[in-house]
Amino acid sequence: MKNENINYLSVFSAVNSFAKAQEIPKPPQKGIQKATYNCPMHPDKMSSDPEKCAKCGMQMIKKEGDKK
Ligand SMILES: [Zn+2]
Repeated sequence: MKNENINYLSVFSAVNSFAKAQEIPKPPQKGIQKATYNCPMHPDKMSSDPEKCAKCGMQMIKKEGDKK
């Protein structure tokens, strides 16, 4: 019984270290990436919310095609 227990522990720690070694950085998830909005007239005016441009009051549009 005691022997079995020790064996189980060593297997567990081996699996544990193996799992750690296999840990790969996750690719960035698309859903988490925040959308960027900017004014059609003032591309330098950017916001993470679809608000209106502070300069001209135009509705900011979602910036797309930023991922390459
Ligand atoms: Zn503007």
